[in-house]
Formats: sequence, structure tokens, C-alpha cells
Amino acid sequence: MATDSKSINTRCCIVGGGPAGMMLGLLLARAGIATVVLEKHGDFLRDFRGDTVHPSTLEILAELGLKDKFDALPQTRVQQLDAMFADGIHAVGDFRSLRPFPYMALVPQWDLLDLLATEAQGHDDFKLCMRHEATALLHDANGVVIGVLAKSPDGEIQVNADLVVGCDGRHSLLRAAAGLQPTDLGAPMDVLWFRLARLPSDPDGTYGVPGYGNFFVMLNRGEYWQIASVIAKGEVEQWRRQPIEDFRSRIVRKVAFLADRVDGIGSWDDVKLLQVRVDRLQQWHQPGLLLIGDAAHAMSPIGGVGINLAIQDAVAAGNILAQAMRAPGRPGESVLASIQQRRLLPTRIIQALQVFIQRRVIAPALASQVSDKPVALPRVARLLLGFSFIRSLPARIIGQGFRREHVRSPHR
Ligand SMILES: Cc1cc2nc3c(=O)[nH]c(=O)nc-3n(C[C@H](O)[C@H](O)[C@H](O)COP(=O)(O)OP(=O)(O)OC[C@H]3O[C@@H](n4cnc5c(N)ncnc54)[C@H](O)[C@@H]3O)c2cc1C
Repeated sequence: MATDSKSINTRCCIVGGGPAGMMLGLLLARAGIATVVLEKHGDFLRDFRGDTVHPSTLEILAELGLKDKFDALPQTRVQQLDAMFADGIHAVGDFRSLRPFPYMALVPQWDLLDLLATEAQGHDDFKLCMRHEATALLHDANGVVIGVLAKSPDGEIQVNADLVVGCDGRHSLLRAAAGLQPTDLGAPMDVLWFRLARLPSDPDGTYGVPGYGNFFVMLNRGEYWQIASVIAKGEVEQWRRQPIEDFRSRIVRKVAFLADRVDGIGSWDDVKLLQVRVDRLQQWHQPGLLLIGDAAHAMSPIGGVGINLAIQDAVAAGNILAQAMRAPGRPGESVLASIQQRRLLPTRIIQALQVFIQRRVIAPALASQVSDKPVALPRVARLLLGFSFIRSLPARIIGQGFRREHVRSPHR
């Protein structure tokens, strides 16, 4: 990798140090392919990022020999997904029959990214440039992408590469710069995120709290609850107009045991908005450019699959690119197309399931009048959830997904 203060020459330039970018960077560097990752932030410490690490990702970490280091990160392990109904807590998903990892880990995303970054930095062929924000694509006279321009703390820098991979998330600048438009698949909801202290006397699990007009998902993060309050799309201003005290009372009416610490939400500044999007690019590549992860397909938060799909994309791309980029020069477009082809079907299936649940369950629930009355579990659902096979099905679909990827790229 040749570097001066104004330019870097490398084989692969990855834009975005999220789960997709850091995993792909590690895999390529490990395979001996010179790789630069540009990340616009100075650290990975962004709050309210996804942190559900599913069994499919645990398998990949084990294949990379990182499972022990991952296990040493602060985490809670979830074997069962529960929902709080009017008559108590019911199990709605069960990971215990999955092998080899019968659980989902809740790990702060920054810890996972730090682990991948540290591991990648152990390879000579890897360079991570924090505070480097890609601002434009560079093209040759034939329109082939040959690198990016980036803003760095020392001014503008040019990164020349045989391949640019856009892992820059749901608002991807590279995607826009390439003139690619994702198809919007629609989402009826947005999410208000906040955190409240968790006490030893609290229930142990990770819960959904169904409701009409608004419902909660409560992630057990050890010392605190990370709580998603799901609201109808576009209604955030209506919610924010109510005094924060009303919002606090609403929380307590839904989850009574939070009464003694709900004051932890001092003002609306403590409540963050996630605008939910579900979209997908028709074409994930152009000559010299590939897009993966949220940049190619933003996922609904249903099932907490976003990180895991991004990592699956990275592993598929790593397997194919490590082979294709052994020879010098630019990987052909057929190589890039084969990555899209491999990942399109599993992405489509999960998005179709998410959109189905959004339309059939979430949209009608959100369209009902807001009520804090607890919801009863319908009898037929209670009957079905009595079967362990039924409870393990959602865990299998979200935990392992479809067409599970395994690390096949070499370790040179
Ligand atoms: C509030 C919230 C909660 C979520 N909860 C979950 C969950 O519980 N479980 C789950 O699996 N998924 C969850 N998701 C989704 C999940 O975070 C994403 O699907 C996943 O992170 C996608 O990974 P990615 O690497 O493709 O993109 P991202 O994680 O979005 O990473 C993109 C990276 O690119 C960087 N970047 C952007 N533009 C540039 C640029 N021009 N130059 C350089 N760097 C750039 C960004 O700083 C960022 O680090 C959640 C998302 C949000 C927003």
C-alpha cells in the first residue's frame, strides 16, 4: 500500500467502518489483500446502534478464532424471547434448539467493532483511517470507479483502489454518487429509543410489550434497559409535543416496575428517534464499485437482523473477492454481480417477512387508538406457542437466517 499525505494507493477501499465494513476489511486483510477502511467518525461510540449478535454471526466469529475474545466482551445472552401480555409473560421465541450456539448475544456494537478493528490492525495489509469521510467517487475516462476523495483532519485525500466497497449505511453517499436509487419497500413505524436503569429485582429477559397505538421492545443490557418505543411513522412531532411527564406516565402504565426510575428520562433530549426504512437496491454494483450491508438494503428493526445480514454480506463478499483479487487488477463486474446474486435471495426473504409483519401486525396495531391497557394473548396463539417447534421457528429464522455464510477466504 503506497501512501503520501495526499493520496493512498490500495487494492480495496472500503467506505464505512460499521459491521459490514469492518468484517470485510478484516477478511480481505487476513487474505493478504491491501485494504483501507475509511470511517467518518473518530470512534465507534454511537449510542442506540443495533447490538443483537445472532447465532449466525457467532459462528463466523468462531470460524475466525475470535469467539473467546468476543465472549470476554460485556454481554447478556438471550435464550428466549418473551412478550408481556395482560396475564403475564409468555415465551414467543426459543433459541435453545439451535446449534452450535443456542443463544443471541446482546453486545454494545462499539465493542464488537473495536474487536474487529483490533484484529484487522494485526495484519500488515490493513489500514483503518478514522475521521476520514468519503465525499466523492473518482472515475476514469470510461466511467469505471477508481477510488474516492475523502475529507481528513489534514485536508482532502485521494484513495486510489482497484475496488471501492460502499459499506456506508442506509444514507450511503457512495450509492447516491453512483446514481443508484434504492426501491422503498415501506415501513409504517418509527422508533423512539431511550434507556432506563435495570435493577437486580427486574425480570431477566428481553421482552416485547404489545399494545395498541404504541408498543415496546425492552432489551436487557445488564445494568440498563434499552427500550424501543414503536410509534406510527411521521407522528414523532405529535409525541414530542406532549410534556415529558406524560410520556413517563405512559411508560409506567405499560411497564409498572419502571415507576421508580422513569425520572431517568429528564427531557425529550434523552429520547432518540430512529426513522425506520426498508429498502433495497436493484443493482448492488457498477464497474469498480460494490455496495453491501445497509447501503444495499436497509432492514426493518424487526428481528434485529441488520448487523447480522451486513456481516453475512461481508463474509460472502470476502469469500468471493479474496479469490478474485489474488490476481492483480480490478475484479470484473461478473465477480461483483456474483456477490449480489449470492446475497439477494436471503435479503429478499427476510425483507418480505419483515414487510408482511409490518403490514399485518404492526400497522393495524399502530393505527388503533393509543391505549396503555395491556393486551391479552389470543387463545389460538397461546395454544400454538405451547409447541416448542413453533417457539423455535422465529428464533431459527432470525438467528440463523437463510443461506448461512461461512468463512472460506484464506488466512495468509
Ligand atoms: C437505532 C438503531 C437500532 C438498531 N437496532 C438493531 C439491532 O438491535 N440489531 C440489528 O441487527 N440491527 C439493528 N439496527 C440496524 C443495524 O445497526 C444496521 O443494519 C447495521 O449496522 C448495518 O451495518 P452496515 O455496516 O451496513 O452500516 P452501518 O452500521 O450504518 O455503518 C455505516 C458506517 O459508515 C460510516 N459512514 C457513513 N458515511 C460515510 C462516509 N461518507 N465516509 C466514511 N464513513 C461513512 C458511518 O459512520 C458508519 O460507521 C439498528 C439500527 C439503528 C439505527
